[in-house]
This record gives sequence, structure tokens and C-alpha cells, in this order.
Amino acid sequence: MKLSHRIMHLTEGGSDGWGVFYRARELKAQGHAVTELTIGEHDVGTAPDILAEMYASARDGHTGYASVPGTDLLRDTVAARVQTRTGVPTKRHNVLITPGGQAALFAAHTAVCNPGDTGLYLDPYYATYPGTIRGVGAVAKAVQTHAQDAFQPRAEEIDKHADGAVSLLINTPNNPTGVVYTPETLGAIAETCKRRDLWLISDEVYDTQVWEGTHLSPRALPDMADRTLVIGSMSKSHAMTGSRCGWVIGPEEVIDHLINLATHTTYGVPGFIQDAASFALSAGQGPEEEVAAPFRRRREIAGRILARQNVVGLVPAHGAMYLMLDIRATGLSGEGFANTLLDTHAIAVMPGESFGKAAAGHVRVAMTIDDEKFGDSLQVLCDFAGELSRSAAAS
Ligand code: PMP
Repeated sequence: MKLSHRIMHLTEGGSDGWGVFYRARELKAQGHAVTELTIGEHDVGTAPDILAEMYASARDGHTGYASVPGTDLLRDTVAARVQTRTGVPTKRHNVLITPGGQAALFAAHTAVCNPGDTGLYLDPYYATYPGTIRGVGAVAKAVQTHAQDAFQPRAEEIDKHADGAVSLLINTPNNPTGVVYTPETLGAIAETCKRRDLWLISDEVYDTQVWEGTHLSPRALPDMADRTLVIGSMSKSHAMTGSRCGWVIGPEEVIDHLINLATHTTYGVPGFIQDAASFALSAGQGPEEEVAAPFRRRREIAGRILARQNVVGLVPAHGAMYLMLDIRATGLSGEGFANTLLDTHAIAVMPGESFGKAAAGHVRVAMTIDDEKFGDSLQVLCDFAGELSRSAAAS
């Protein structure tokens, strides 16, 4: 029997740079001690008071079908939070609750892309982006960013690829680079979207993890609220990755259509999860800062270790739970370096090549293990890179 073109071509196949990750997992399953600095999973679980609220809600009977667009309480809570953080008037009708940010990304692209339209995204990129765009039948087209620009996108390159495109997907604070787009970058992107009539899909799931400056949502830029769909999530801000609770923020007309999509796909998010999310958001910034604090601390630890050597370069990391390290001085590719590091020191990092072409010669380090172990592992990585670069220079 034949399967659809869309499902068969969701991912491109071939080597995608995730081999190191799977190898590390296999070694662990075989009982080897491997230090994993790979994926964006906190080293703490969801806070006990959020879990207690989840249980209380379920026990009180919120276990049936929940309201498909999201409960009034959670939609109102998310709308108020977004309005407070961005200044953009936001009401319940601008919010659709989804099973995580990933479902929100899919919904947003479904809302704006026709089959065959081009959806743009920026390289390096979060692993699911091209598949999500292809998943709605659109053509996924990468626009490169550059290490020498610290991966800040150039608006003129977006412009160059905009013929036939209907949307641009951006992510700040950025996974995988840890870069936060500057107001100038976001301003230029917004102008390009207006000039080329593009929807801007703004993935802001790391908006509570900004280490310098503040988070700027491009929806708040002049005349952008009507063409911007914001992706949000409880996953990273409240260590609720497994609860699958996120949202799309957008114009009421778009949200109305997306409610229709939700009715025909997810049929909503469990009520007890939504109650826990409402409770968590109502507690304000304190708990969000607590969840973010370990990453802030580890970034500082990394800064001190990296400052003592000159082989491994650090892409200016202003947000999110990752560091992008430039290891080109070792003479290896990101993939080569990551594989050798795993083999010789049992430390797993993600090759830059797993996130596209632009971060070749880099590795991404997730700051998701305890401080001391994190510092020790980073020191080992730097010493190893130093040895490699000395032997590369000698040969
Ligand atoms: N966007 C980015 C940039 C991410 O890193 C992730 C998760 N790693 C997501 C979206 C999806 O997150 P979730 O579905 O858990 O909300």
C-alpha cells in the first residue's frame, strides 16, 4: 500500500548529525557512564506545588474533555501574561492552548501556508522546523545565518529568499545557538516581513531565559501584531516538558480557524494540565526565575572556563539553556569532534551540523547537568580541544 508523499518526505533522511546522540543513548543503555550535554531537558522535574495542583484538579473531576480552545482560565492567564510582558493588547480570543509549543508550530504553519507555498526558517534551526513546515505540505526553505555575525540573521538574506514565501519562522532566544536577537535585528526582520508580506511565526518558548537585556517579542513592533503568530510553552519556563502545554498567540480571526483545526486534530489539552499551567503562571516571575537560575549560573561557570583558553570559541550566549562552541581550531568538524569526545571522554554534545549547515564546525552544549559536573565536563572538552589543535598545528 502507498503512503502519502507528505508523510514519506517529512524528514529528509540521510545523515542528520544525530548519530552522536543515539550512540550516547546506546552506550548508556549498555551500562556505560556517559555525560549527556545533548537535549533541552531540565535536570529538575516540575515543581511539587504545580504537581499538587494537577492532582487536585484531576481529583476534583477535571479529567473529561476540556474546552478545545483551552480553558477560559488558562487563555485569560496567558493573555494577561503576554500583555504584561509585551504591552500588546491581548485577550482570550487571541490565544489557543495547544499540546506544547511543537503542536503550536504545526498549527501556525497550517494557518498560513498553502500546499506548495514556501515557509522560510533560519539556519541553524531547532531540529523539527523543516519537518513541521513540510508537514503542512509547504516547501521548507532555509536562510543561512553566519558564525561571523554571531548568528544574528541578515534581513537582506531573508529578503533574497522571500519570492514565493508566505511565512518566516524565527526563534529568539535561540535554540541551538543561545543567541538573543537584538532589537535592530528584529526591527529589520519586521520591516522585511511587512515589505514582502510575510507572516512572522515567532517561537518564544525560551522567553523566560534571557541572561542579558530583556526579551523583545516582535509582535510588539509597529504594525506587527496583525501578521505575527507567537509560539509559547510551559515546557522550558516551568520545567513542564512532559505536560505538553503551549499556545499560539495571534489575531482573533486566525485563532478562530485554529480552534477549528484543534477540534479536528488534538481535541484540546487535558483540563488538569491546564489548571496546573494556570496555577503555575499565576505565581508570576519568581518560579520562572528559579527554573532559569541554574542555566544562568552554568553560563557563568562556562564563561570563566572558556576565558582561560583560546582554542574553543563561545558564540555570545544571551539566552536559552545552550552554549554554541566554535571548535574549528581543532581542525575537526562538529560531528568529528563530538564523536571523538564521546569515544575518548564519554561526554556527549550535539554537533552543530545537527542543526543545519550554518553551525558546522561548532558543537552545542546543553547546560542541563549539575554545576560541578558541568564545569568539569566543559574543562575536559576544552583540554581535549587544546590537545587536538596542538596536534593539528604540529602535523
Ligand atoms: N521550539 C524550540 C526552539 C524548542 O527548543 C522546543 C523544544 N525543545 C520547542 C519549540 C517545542 O517545545 P514543546 O513542544 O515542549 O513546547
